[in-house]
Amino acid sequence: MGNALTKLDESENAFKGRSASIGSGSTRPTNVSERRRRMHMGISNNARSRTNSTGSQLMYKKKSTRERDSMKESFAKQLVVRYNESVDGGYLAPHGCYTFEKLDYDPSLVRSLITARKLAPFYIPLQDFDESWTREELIKIVDGLPLHAAVNENPEEFEDTPIGNLKVQNIDELVDKSLSKKEQRKQRSKIFKARLHRKRILWQEQENEAFLEQKLEAKKEPNPSKRNLALPSADLNHTIYKKGIECPICFLYYPEPLNYSRCCLQPICTECFVQIKRGDPHFPHEEVDPTKPVTNDDEKDPNLLISEPASCAYCATPNFGVTYQPPENRKTGIGGTPPGSYKAAHDEEKASVSNRSGSEEGPKTPSKSPEDPEVVTSDMIRPDWKAKLDKERLRLARRSANATAIHVSNQLVSPDHPSRRDSTTDSGSIPNARSSRLVTNPMVELENQMVEQAIRLSLVDEEERKNSQVHR
Ligand SMILES: [Zn+2]
Ligand SMILES: [Zn+2]
Repeated sequence: MGNALTKLDESENAFKGRSASIGSGSTRPTNVSERRRRMHMGISNNARSRTNSTGSQLMYKKKSTRERDSMKESFAKQLVVRYNESVDGGYLAPHGCYTFEKLDYDPSLVRSLITARKLAPFYIPLQDFDESWTREELIKIVDGLPLHAAVNENPEEFEDTPIGNLKVQNIDELVDKSLSKKEQRKQRSKIFKARLHRKRILWQEQENEAFLEQKLEAKKEPNPSKRNLALPSADLNHTIYKKGIECPICFLYYPEPLNYSRCCLQPICTECFVQIKRGDPHFPHEEVDPTKPVTNDDEKDPNLLISEPASCAYCATPNFGVTYQPPENRKTGIGGTPPGSYKAAHDEEKASVSNRSGSEEGPKTPSKSPEDPEVVTSDMIRPDWKAKLDKERLRLARRSANATAIHVSNQLVSPDHPSRRDSTTDSGSIPNARSSRLVTNPMVELENQMVEQAIRLSLVDEEERKNSQVHR
């Protein structure tokens, strides 16, 4: 196990040092960005307690498969683009330039950042834009845009996966019981994913149809005040699309203003922004010392696992974040006037025609630190990154504890087991956790407690797993 516990604190501090170089003592309850997020976003108590539970309690209380499934479903529902949930001409969920599977941010956080106008909304992009289009042509093109991009209905990975009746919640019937327990779990998870994929398509289709229907009705209604005011007015569509900008990552054309990278002030659409995230937890890349044997990842101390913050897609500065300055010429949808009643100011129409090159200016603010209250970082929209790292550390610690348990029991069975003679305790007693309490070194004591705790947790886990199988 190595010096597991001592290294935990060291690596924690080393990590915190990246974002807060002074006073990063281990007594702080949460990391910097987490505290900042709570301070500046005015998150509800509900969201706060959820963040706490994913942050620390999760380590000790594992969620049941059903709980996790329903959480995934409710996340997916928040990723449906709804025409009546708009902000300044954009929406609260992505248009679909990237596949469903790639959307793993916290949707409730991103939705609240958009409605708070701290992040650009998800606009429907244009494939291209021609400055010679007339007002009427542009309005017609925008009016014909779908709420969401087409989705691959039968991705290869789900080709042979049965999805059964989507209205039936219990999917255990679909699992092949002749498979091993491990294979059954794998199959169940694949069935769940395939069904969720199908459900998302249906949820979005329903919304697309409602949007289309409402647009057709609005065309038939001669009295503008009787039309559905959740639909954007022609003025609103013209105002936002006549002066747009290309996102340098997805090369699609979006209404202005977009988000700008905090470091090098490059534009980035929200859909691309939510794709940028930390890499998976890994061991630090060591310099190879040819005189020493190479340590396997399996043998390394789990507390040395690290997770590095995302870097800027343009200039590679660590701790990627963006700023956003909401438009001054429109405040529609949530927190503003109904999109259907938006009327462009007469002088604005004229000004914008003569000032098209204005879109090249970019933000008027200088670079900002990741701690700046105006900055939204990649970590803020995935607050569970720390819990994921802890979970991975714990997983490795448990695996290592299991190996230790097997090792100890081997020694108990065979008194001549070679490792018994290697025992570091002079007393010659069995080096299990209990007897080594006699050792006065506090570090050894702590380490033993940790091994005991890890063994206990893996037993509890095993017990839970058995129970959940019985109850199915
Ligand atoms: Zn983009
Ligand atoms: Zn940058």
